[in-house]
Amino acid sequence: MTDIATPTGLLIAGEWQSGPDRFEVHDPSDYSVLAEVADASVADGLDAVTAAHDAFAEWSVTPPRQRAEVLRKAFEIMTAEADTCARLIALENGKAWRDAMGETIYAAEFFRWFSEEAARIEGGFRYAPARDKTIITDHRPMGVAYMITPWNFPAAMATRKIAPALAAGCTCILKPPRETPLTALWIGDVMQRAGAPAGVVNVVTTSHAGEVSSAILGDPRVATLSFTGSTWVGKSLLKQTAERVLPSSMELGGNAPFLVLEGADIDSAVAGAMIAKMRNGGSACTAANRFYVHESLVEPFSAGLQEAFAGLRMGPGVEPTTELGAMVSDIERDKILALLDEAAGEGVDVTPAQQAPATGAFVAPTVARGVEHGSTLTRNEIFGPVAPIVSVANTEEAVRMANDTEFGLISYVYAADPGTGVKVARQMESGMVAINRGIASDPAAPFGGMKESGLGREGGFAGIHEFLETQYFAVDL
Ligand code: NAP
Repeated sequence: MTDIATPTGLLIAGEWQSGPDRFEVHDPSDYSVLAEVADASVADGLDAVTAAHDAFAEWSVTPPRQRAEVLRKAFEIMTAEADTCARLIALENGKAWRDAMGETIYAAEFFRWFSEEAARIEGGFRYAPARDKTIITDHRPMGVAYMITPWNFPAAMATRKIAPALAAGCTCILKPPRETPLTALWIGDVMQRAGAPAGVVNVVTTSHAGEVSSAILGDPRVATLSFTGSTWVGKSLLKQTAERVLPSSMELGGNAPFLVLEGADIDSAVAGAMIAKMRNGGSACTAANRFYVHESLVEPFSAGLQEAFAGLRMGPGVEPTTELGAMVSDIERDKILALLDEAAGEGVDVTPAQQAPATGAFVAPTVARGVEHGSTLTRNEIFGPVAPIVSVANTEEAVRMANDTEFGLISYVYAADPGTGVKVARQMESGMVAINRGIASDPAAPFGGMKESGLGREGGFAGIHEFLETQYFAVDL
């Protein structure tokens, strides 16, 4: 087994517990076994609820400045040990080293941002219009937060939830994905070392996500759910949380359009597309999924992208020179290959830009040409290094096609000038729009989607409010 620097037990009430059952974690670039981690049962999940519930009484009244210092310390540890975190991400997820390191820095920044937010939770005071009372608004921590995260950002999706929850005064139970639990366990260890009291952060790895989650969500001591993952699983969780009218933050799937409008600069559009499409090898909810390119620019844009795809160095994520790593598993790789087969059957040219390594869950980067709007590659979240190019006659057509989806997480607009970009951005039905750039994510910005891409926002000033209840006091002063 690979030498990994992380615990492999369950973190419950400040103790690492290794139950009788375990499951394997693999490196998708060569299928080697990285570790065996504890496989939590329903009883373990409920123990974690007890631990988080017990810890809430004290943590919720711990001075915000003190809570902030724990988060600040977590930022400092994570930054100082960035190599360890990036290595774990690259090993268990397969993503390229630069993406793993980029994620580590991004993930650590949530601790820094929310350490600053912890001390700035605002209340409100105003007079009622009739002047018969004053309206005082207060915010208080919701309680125990249950957090479910996906495999594509093993660190950042965890810190984007843990940091605001702790800043707000909540305690939590993190359930990482089965494919990438090691990074989450390492973050649990970081929180311990940063001084989070026992039970404030619990990490429960399991191969029975449905069973364990249903038990936790059904427990009246749990106050909120924060989920990041597919829309399909998100909808099934919403049905469960509806039973208890449990607040539920949902960061779900995407199908991001990337518009290259008439007059856009081709070199910067290609450079932006490489980031928007290829960060994480395309396995990002924010990944550009469909390219709507003005008919006058289709040729140079496709050729530029093809050249950039052909030049990517493919290989194991842990090798520093790798620019495109493996998909997280054969299952994910095969889903992408099935979409490519279906597209080929529709007459799309899906010739890969280069050959993928023979062993490992790799997918060759592919510019798919001659794609029709409404066909397979535009309807499905590809989650891999495939760029379908659709030719459009004008901006109106591009906007109409871009919005023709049940998803609405992010859009990318490349325009001749920022003014045109903003005008088009206002017509996009998505929670976020990147204008003349290939990335929008920032811990200081509100991340989230419209339509079936989610409910609520993470990060920015909004993020902490996912873990706070608003309480209003009517007083006659
Ligand atoms: P997924 O299959 O929905 O899994 C996400 C998490 O849910 C995992 O921890 C998984 O555990 C758990 N889960 C699965 N079934 C469950 C159930 N019945 N009850 C409770 N939990 C359950 O998604 P994924 O394949 O990991 O991630 C890819 C998806 O996430 C994409 O659609 C992507 O767009 C979306 N995503 C969205 C954002 C955003 O911020 N909007 C960010 C990243 C990813 P197991 O691993 O044990 O099955």
